[in-house]
Amino acid sequence: MTADLFDTPERRDLRATVRKFTEREIVPHLDDWERAGELPRDLHRAAAKVGLLGIGFAEEVGGSGGGLLDSVVVTEEIIQAGGSSGLIAGLFTHGIALPHIVDAGDPDLIDRFVRPTLDGELIGALAITEPDGGSDVAALRTTAVRDGDDFIVNGTKTFITSGARADFVTTAVRTGGPGYEGISLLVIDRGIDVVRRLEKMGWHCSDTAELSFVDIRVPAKNLVGPENGGFALVMRQFQVERITMAVEAYATAQRCLDLTLAYVRSRETFGKPLVKRQLVTHKLVEMAQRIDLARSYTREVAAMIADGRECVAQVCFAKNAAVAACDHVVDEAVQLHGGFGYLRDAEVERHYRDSRILGIGGGTNEVMAELAARRLGFTA
Ligand SMILES: Cc1cc2nc3c(=O)[nH]c(=O)nc-3n(C[C@H](O)[C@H](O)[C@H](O)COP(=O)(O)OP(=O)(O)OC[C@H]3O[C@@H](n4cnc5c(N)ncnc54)[C@H](O)[C@@H]3O)c2cc1C
Repeated sequence: MTADLFDTPERRDLRATVRKFTEREIVPHLDDWERAGELPRDLHRAAAKVGLLGIGFAEEVGGSGGGLLDSVVVTEEIIQAGGSSGLIAGLFTHGIALPHIVDAGDPDLIDRFVRPTLDGELIGALAITEPDGGSDVAALRTTAVRDGDDFIVNGTKTFITSGARADFVTTAVRTGGPGYEGISLLVIDRGIDVVRRLEKMGWHCSDTAELSFVDIRVPAKNLVGPENGGFALVMRQFQVERITMAVEAYATAQRCLDLTLAYVRSRETFGKPLVKRQLVTHKLVEMAQRIDLARSYTREVAAMIADGRECVAQVCFAKNAAVAACDHVVDEAVQLHGGFGYLRDAEVERHYRDSRILGIGGGTNEVMAELAARRLGFTA
């Protein structure tokens, strides 16, 4: 069974390490970082020191080894130990900024960007979305025009996670003609103008920025993979980003169920604990059922990706199903906490706000449905 894959002795040890790190290094500070609007660099160094930043990256590129299923364990455990999806977005942004560079395999780019990031010394971001649109990646407008040994880059990127702190940005640019065939990936590590930090509904500890590039000179050796071959790299990595967001969704839901169960056991109304009401327990069962279905299916699809199997439509199903489960559970969690659930002091309140992005980022619910329809041949 797929569940057994997540319960090997090695993954139980990994889970224990992650839990200890989260309880010691994250939970006591999370509220401060939420107020500060960003994570401290020291946290990246501390996470690197215990090997967490490098999980899912091969030792040959400076990682700690392990694969996607180990990353799933890390994501699940951080959230279930009291972290959050926003924390994961900010601390593990390298999970979306580096894989293309590793995939392309240029030793110079790996030495300059991958190793120092996995060591916690650099912070990277991934910039695809532009003010004119995010879903239609093939329509992006930021240009990179060849000039001798450099590219001259002009354009604006928005909603960029860790964009305000980033030392480098893996950026999708147009080097060729219109459409997906003219897109390349370029690592930009200077001249990044943070136009503004964006204030958000949730994910407060994860800084998000609008970035502008005006006549920035970027060495052509910073090209990731072949010129005009960026779209395929982006799409391949989207699979992992999307399944990770599905994991964040069911893990957040599980955490909210755990918090709610504790609350309804201790909260008394009309002379007995809330948990003694059938209406309440049936709500809890509905929450548990949706989480279990989302977790089982998402883990199954993560195993398919790890095995290199074709599963584009299944990733779409997993993301949308896990997000739907999470949306339901966080809403019920706030409801069952009553007035306290609406207060900043309640952890479920943060998860309620944080999780709203999961059906938007990395491909919206609608874009997932559209992609699945095409994969299944429904649009022919
Ligand atoms: C907190 C946060 C962090 C982010 N981090 C990053 C990051 O690090 N890097 C990055 O590049 N981007 C990032 N994004 C951007 C995110 O990926 C985009 O917001 C997302 O892809 C949607 O793009 P959009 O906002 O331009 O919406 P649009 O593409 O304008 O879509 C608007 C609405 O129209 C719907 N829609 C669009 N096309 C269709 C269609 N064909 N059929 C039906 N409905 C459609 C969408 O589903 C959506 O509901 C982040 C966003 C946020 C809010």
